[in-house]
Amino acid sequence: MRKMLIAGNWKMNKTIPESLELIHALLKKLDSSCPAEVVLIPPFTSLFSAAEALRGSGIELGAQNLSHLSEGAVTGEVSGPMLVSVGCRYVLAGHSERRNLFQEDDTVINQKLKTALSEGLHPILCVGESWKEREAGKTKDVIGSQLKKGLDGLNPLEMRKMTIAYEPVWAIGTGKTAQPEQVQETHEAIRSELSSQYAPETAKAIRIIYGGSVTPDNSSSLMAQPDVDGALVGGASLDADSFYAIISAI
Ligand code: PEP
Repeated sequence: MRKMLIAGNWKMNKTIPESLELIHALLKKLDSSCPAEVVLIPPFTSLFSAAEALRGSGIELGAQNLSHLSEGAVTGEVSGPMLVSVGCRYVLAGHSERRNLFQEDDTVINQKLKTALSEGLHPILCVGESWKEREAGKTKDVIGSQLKKGLDGLNPLEMRKMTIAYEPVWAIGTGKTAQPEQVQETHEAIRSELSSQYAPETAKAIRIIYGGSVTPDNSSSLMAQPDVDGALVGGASLDADSFYAIISAI
């Protein structure tokens, strides 16, 4: 059985006091009956304070990025060991904003996954097509290629630590959500790609979550799809009420 995972990617939002305000508001609402694994992904500057505030709550912490190197002269980067030492369990890789704004390609994303896994982190690999690619009928090819190149060289045990986030680029931060049937179809294609790269049992064990303008209004129909194992939430995770409503809609 795959446990649902709801992750809130705060992107470049929230100072430390704002982060703590949001965390305390969420902690007041969430209790141990929550059926999902909840992960908060604040900016780097808030990780230490967030880890302290979340201690003992059962809510996990994740980072938005990591360096593909473990240490050294790489000004401005943050390493896997640093993320582990601050209390992160999860880390994003391949988010479309990193791919598009910072020219991160599948090769560097693959190196980031390997570094993260070697440090014991659980990576969330984001994949997804642009609107132009969807219109041209290339969705499955684009995602298949991102998965093949991104996951190259990972063994089945490492794969079981991975989560895949399907995030159509045209749905991120745009208010345009993919229809539940479109999402199910793509998640099925992702699982079948994983099944051909690894054993079907491995593919069945991997969580595939959806991201792209998830809100309290559309989350339950998306989460009801058999191959949707949770959500990666951007904008709606910045407010305790809307993030809590998404979690409780499971
Ligand atoms: C994201 O950044 O991963 C995301 C899904 O953003 P939003 O929910 O705002 O579309």
